[in-house]
Amino acid sequence: MLTGTPKNQRHSNTRLVLDKFKTAGQDPISVQDISNHSGISKTTVKKIVNELMDSGIVLNCGKGASTSEGGKKPELFRLNSDHCYALGVHVYPEALHVALLDITMNVVTKHVINIASTITVEELTQLIVKESEEIVGGPGRFLIGIGIAMCGIVDSNNGIIRYSPHFKDWSPDYPILKALENSLKRSGLFVNNNSRPLDLIIDNDCRFQAYAEMIKRDEKNGSMVYLELSSKGVGSGIIINGDLLSGAGHIAGEIGHMVVTPFDENCACGGRGCLETKLSLDSINRMIADKKPAHPESELIGSQDSQVSFDQLLNAFHRSDALAVAIVDDIAFLISVALSNLGLVINPNLITIWGEYIRFGDYLLRKIDESIESMSLSAIRKNSRIEMAELAKESAITGAISILINNYLNELFPLKSKGKRS
Ligand SMILES: [Zn+2]
Repeated sequence: MLTGTPKNQRHSNTRLVLDKFKTAGQDPISVQDISNHSGISKTTVKKIVNELMDSGIVLNCGKGASTSEGGKKPELFRLNSDHCYALGVHVYPEALHVALLDITMNVVTKHVINIASTITVEELTQLIVKESEEIVGGPGRFLIGIGIAMCGIVDSNNGIIRYSPHFKDWSPDYPILKALENSLKRSGLFVNNNSRPLDLIIDNDCRFQAYAEMIKRDEKNGSMVYLELSSKGVGSGIIINGDLLSGAGHIAGEIGHMVVTPFDENCACGGRGCLETKLSLDSINRMIADKKPAHPESELIGSQDSQVSFDQLLNAFHRSDALAVAIVDDIAFLISVALSNLGLVINPNLITIWGEYIRFGDYLLRKIDESIESMSLSAIRKNSRIEMAELAKESAITGAISILINNYLNELFPLKSKGKRS
């Protein structure tokens, strides 16, 4: 619980009560439950719940069952799922995923729209406006904002797409949020019947995924890293004490371009020996070729002319093929070099891993652990957990909408000690 001015204290208590409602989602809870789990007195909770009902955020849903001792039936409350909505958009290379969520984080509607690789950023902006009009529907719905997640370098402070690896023809530094705002104003969606302008946000999808993972695990007070590892690319999101780290040039978290084997293979970024290049299928095939003489019996040495696919490597690994296992050991080593260096800089409480490479399962995590332990300060391993991520790729939309809801609640119940994204 925060201390400070009476108003800050009151808002802090209200936010704690709202957190309990958010955790409960659509399940009803009693004043006693909230008091037990928040440490706030029953009288104060009751007062806050009444205020939240007056503002339409919370609903009374009748009486619950009586206690086992035969006590009075408690009154139950839950968030009013009709109170407000937020729209999340995830831009994939081949499709646009759009979802409308309510304040309980329940998905109300979801659309998937195929997009051509030749789509311009201006056309994409118009598509988002069209989808917003269709999905949000009638004037009765109070939309608080739109969050856009995408791969690439994104200036989240100014709403600008600096660079997209999937849409290389897009003009650099496109101010998408300004363009979106202007189009939404023309369509009448930007300021709704509550006279509140929409909150428009955009960020790298891995950052939003990191935020969703933090909320899911309730890791707001520490530092954590979300790392996506695939042969097609490496991305990450870094959170320090509940805030997403973006950096001066918005490249904080580009762990894929951390050098793990100096002066090695050329990377598209201009560097050499970057983690992303070393984890690419081309590089993995070069590693297989180098190790072939020591493993003539391997099932990976069959088709001399064609590349070994990721699935072939995975299947061979699961059949305990010695060459495949040796390659996975090398992959774990490369990842651990990056994570050791990262550990020395930000010393995270938690590193969560997602993507194609987690299909090597606990073996890969164990090897990464062992490798970090053997090469770096033991304090890095002692204080940092490395685990599989709990949420999937689609969680970028959840992360974006969590930020929009928190921004909205911060407007209603501002906390001095909290930043824009906490
Ligand atoms: Zn690079």
